[in-house]
Amino acid sequence: MTDGLPIQPYANPARIRQVHRWLVDTWPPPGGHVSRLRVVLKMPKDYEGCVGVTVWNDTGGTMIWCRHDGPSSTLDTLLHEYAHVITDGAGICGGHGNKFYLKLGEIERAFHYQGGMDASKTF
Ligand SMILES: [Zn+2]
Repeated sequence: MTDGLPIQPYANPARIRQVHRWLVDTWPPPGGHVSRLRVVLKMPKDYEGCVGVTVWNDTGGTMIWCRHDGPSSTLDTLLHEYAHVITDGAGICGGHGNKFYLKLGEIERAFHYQGGMDASKTF
């Protein structure tokens, strides 16, 4: 159900990168690690069936891959993947436990209902 959710404007890759910078500023990655973002039309071979994935490197930094193939879904994918970045991605259900969903809820609420959509436009 998406009752009450504002309709998202078309999200081009530049806009998606802008929202990523807002996410990093609002919820810095744990341990001072770097979060990087790639917006792609085709996902890497190992993740072909996915719309998004977060990959950790050896030093604790993350790379988020987001498939850009729809008018609104890429921003939602980014919010989802960023919740993985700040909840470490580990745990039950492939990182989709209560800790993850509490953080995702916080992020979605901040973005959709508490001014994040507009605030992120300055990033
Ligand atoms: Zn996930």
